[in-house]
Amino acid sequence: MHAPVVVLGGGPGGYAAAFLAADEGLEVTIVEASPTLGGTCLLRGCIPSKALLHVAKVIAEVDELRADWGVVYEGKPAIDVDKVRARKDKVISNLTGGLGNLAKRRNVTVIQARGTFVNSTTLKLEGDHESIPEGGQLTFDHCILATGSVPAMPPVFDIGSDRVMDSTGALKLVDIPETLLVIGGGYIGLEMGSVYAHLGSKVSVVEMTEGLLPGADRDLVKPLAKKIDQMCEGRVFLNTKVGSLSETGDKIEVTFEGPGKFGHEQFDRVLVSIGRRPVTRGLGLENTSVVVNERGFVECDNQQRTADPHIFAIGDVAGDPMLAHKATHEGRIAAEVIAGKAVAFDKVAIPAVVFTDPEIAWAGLTEEEAKRDGIEVEVNVYPWAASGRAQALGITNGLTKWLVDPNTQRVLGCGIVGSGAGELIAEAVLAIEMGCEVHDITDSIHPHPTLSETLMNAGEVHFGTATEIY
Ligand code: FAD
Repeated sequence: MHAPVVVLGGGPGGYAAAFLAADEGLEVTIVEASPTLGGTCLLRGCIPSKALLHVAKVIAEVDELRADWGVVYEGKPAIDVDKVRARKDKVISNLTGGLGNLAKRRNVTVIQARGTFVNSTTLKLEGDHESIPEGGQLTFDHCILATGSVPAMPPVFDIGSDRVMDSTGALKLVDIPETLLVIGGGYIGLEMGSVYAHLGSKVSVVEMTEGLLPGADRDLVKPLAKKIDQMCEGRVFLNTKVGSLSETGDKIEVTFEGPGKFGHEQFDRVLVSIGRRPVTRGLGLENTSVVVNERGFVECDNQQRTADPHIFAIGDVAGDPMLAHKATHEGRIAAEVIAGKAVAFDKVAIPAVVFTDPEIAWAGLTEEEAKRDGIEVEVNVYPWAASGRAQALGITNGLTKWLVDPNTQRVLGCGIVGSGAGELIAEAVLAIEMGCEVHDITDSIHPHPTLSETLMNAGEVHFGTATEIY
């Protein structure tokens, strides 16, 4: 069988690339090992985690009402874990069904098989699904490599116990353990830890570096770190390594090595969330000219083209940040390049969102990056305590900040911490992408009273005209 364009991997990078290529009039085939399209994001990542986080958020809000706002509910919420899990699974199946229809409508062929490269223009297809063509080989003119990533599980943690979970295991929500240790204070660990904590687990977090969410600006992390510390009842162990895990009866014995905690402790479950590794091993890439770097990512140019001119790479396999919207955007670039368009990816403002309580979001340049690269910036911070809407909602621990180029007044970056930060950051992405100057933000009328005003107010800090409180 021959396919003019084949996409290897049907995650948000792969299916987006396939659909766009089909919209450009190309004949497209997706090779996906799983029974449905959707990839990590839809089946075991963004979507199930957010479905569960929404439940956690509602519980947290009700707790707040009860604690401080004069609303009385009797007792603790009763959690029906089977129903919580079933709702999450329904969200996934609604979306995977939709993707199947979108593929059909575009005449995109979907082959359910594991694909590996025989050479630069041929894939070997393994599996037993009827969609696999006779001979089990597929030749192509262009291939878009979109095999994504999987959770990193170092051998020392891989002890063969189902009480030691990766993010995929944690999302299955088999039960609500009495005690859960989250290894790794990155966004996946904190999101999943929040889910389990609000459903009733006693959660502890251990992080090797000196702070949660390494790499994010510290002023954004501070309010979240405080909340996580409260949620974990002080059991956040920083600067601390986990030395070993072992199963003893129905517990996991953990050894800690660090100033945050030293010695042994037992937990009912352990979530290992220390990062993800790109899926490049075992793909037969050595049979092509594709170059894989020392971190396992496929090297490609700003048109997503690898060193092998027929093969493009997109999404998690093509490098950081490993985010679904980056994968989708790269998919669009690759599809358009193959269709003959003169496009390239200018990585100006890829937003990042941590869906915890409070949420954290940023786009464009961060203060950490500006410091590291010696870029001069003016930082204009607006505290949410001065926002009428934030006061009304009782979420005054947030802040919004713009990073502005002092010479051109252009906005270079934006950071937000607070409820709904993930929705608010979209305005900043547009502003940075369009090369707005800070007056463009302050000259745009923002609806009152909304949290979106904090973007305008943070811009007004630049001119010294920010309203204190109203
Ligand atoms: P993937 O989604 O990983 O898809 C790759 C596909 O390729 C898979 O379906 C796999 O089966 C298939 N495949 C692999 N090898 C082969 C082969 N040899 N043959 C055939 N098929 C193959 N990102 C966000 O932007 N926002 C979030 O809120 C967010 N939350 C997340 C929460 C969790 C718990 C996790 C784990 C991830 C989260 N992510 C989030 C990251 C996001 O899921 C990934 O960045 C995104 O899925 C990457 O898309 P992709 O298309 O590159 O690869």
